[in-house]
Amino acid sequence: MSIDTGGPAPITVAYGDGIGPEIMDATLRIITAGGAHLDVETIRIGEAVYAQGNTAGIDPEAWESLRRTQVFLKAPVTTPQGGGFKSLNVTVRKAFGLFANVRSCPSYFPFVATKHPGMDVVIIRENEEDLYGGIEHRQTEDVTQCLKLITRPGTERVVRYAFEYARRYRRAKVTCFTKDNIMKMTDGLFHRVFDEVASEYPDLESEHWIVDIGAAKLADTPEAFDVIVLPNLYGDILSDVAAQIAGSIGLAGSANIGSKVAMFEAIHGSAPRLAGQDVANPSGLLLGAVQMLVHIGQGEAAERVHNAWLRAIEDGVHTEDIYNPAVSRVKVGTAGFADAVIARLGERPQTLEPASYPAISERIAVTVSERRPERKELVGIDVFVESRQPVEALAKSLEDVAEPLELVMITNRGQKVYPGGLPETFCVDHWRCRFQGRHPERPLPYEEVVALLGRLVTAGLPFIKSEGLFSFDGQAGFSLGQGQ
Ligand code: NAD
Repeated sequence: MSIDTGGPAPITVAYGDGIGPEIMDATLRIITAGGAHLDVETIRIGEAVYAQGNTAGIDPEAWESLRRTQVFLKAPVTTPQGGGFKSLNVTVRKAFGLFANVRSCPSYFPFVATKHPGMDVVIIRENEEDLYGGIEHRQTEDVTQCLKLITRPGTERVVRYAFEYARRYRRAKVTCFTKDNIMKMTDGLFHRVFDEVASEYPDLESEHWIVDIGAAKLADTPEAFDVIVLPNLYGDILSDVAAQIAGSIGLAGSANIGSKVAMFEAIHGSAPRLAGQDVANPSGLLLGAVQMLVHIGQGEAAERVHNAWLRAIEDGVHTEDIYNPAVSRVKVGTAGFADAVIARLGERPQTLEPASYPAISERIAVTVSERRPERKELVGIDVFVESRQPVEALAKSLEDVAEPLELVMITNRGQKVYPGGLPETFCVDHWRCRFQGRHPERPLPYEEVVALLGRLVTAGLPFIKSEGLFSFDGQAGFSLGQGQ
């Protein structure tokens, strides 16, 4: 996608809550002095909007502004606890399909204390899917569930973005973290798509780690990683870990990238206890704004601002959160820090690696591959039933109504308890009962499973939910049981 660099770039700005207004003032002051050419529209988000009973925390007119400018520089907001309030970030990400969250976490050693002087990790987190769909249910007295959704196009977009990002910024390696030894279908798909896309980038090294040992390695030896791409939940957790071990959560900015709209922010929250005291560090939002300038094709301003910021950090001009008498020279407030960065515009760091951005760059565009349709057939049904009966009695009741289908197995919390369960297995009131046709080679008519559900209700076994079992081109599209 090419970028129009004619007039000032229209952007939408929200000042947010807590320390938001102070760090936004500082950020806008610095980037404007640094040569950013912007046409700013301001919208209202956060506490004041939530307080008017708007559970999304964003004025309806604000959507128009975002649709028009397609670029959002956002200060943190305070999400009210409970009461059906929705996270504004999640709402904006989903509404505009901001599929990739990019957080750069380099060390600024020796100017900011860290145990990992050599680290320079970029975390690219899938931003819309996984356990963040908000699809949760209480199913029985004992059991709640949250649906984990991993899609092929969603995965392909973020993985391609990670490889394109690595190429653009001359990175050597892309690493993927999943837990596909356990979640073979969902995380397995993420891993498989990663491998497929990786094969199209032979110039880049690629590798996969199981997320638990990968996370341990990241916390212990972050220098071993370069770009890491991962599903939403792991990315949420590990991007905070990476920012914190690089030096401070207060230093990292992030970009939320969609195919049209993009949102730029600090990774920290609204720090309400620091609000109005001129002590907050504006660096996270400023570095988010630097990513925004690159995105809108104002690379020269981005480079000037980033290098002046690096120089201020090197010169020991530090806000309280990173102040360390061993390396800091002067403790400044939010506004004083902004003044110090502005005073250094045009200078470059002398020890840290200077930032370098192309004056105008094409945006990273990703496309999703076309796929041929597969032959999908219904081969059975998992019916989830609530019951406090012992499994043998439950199995008897189910067998009685199964015909013409066959009861293949019953599991409790994923553990097979029938046939051939162990008496020691702890069971709750939530049973997954698998029924399949007696002729596996023949697809099941839907009417047969609907009739089964009717017979279950009549037999006093009302179902909680059912999940169709499908084959795709003859391959089972469901897990075969625990541990398989
Ligand atoms: P927080 O990030 O606001 O604060 C965590 C700690 O870091 C606090 O000790 C805080 O004082 C410090 N801190 C954060 N930013 C700082 C800065 N720029 N300079 C100096 N110190 C800084 O996290 P929290 O306390 O868990 O959340 C506060 C509120 O922010 C909550 O309502 C939460 O929902 C919201 N939040 C919003 C966003 C967002 O809008 N993107 C992100 C996270 C949290």
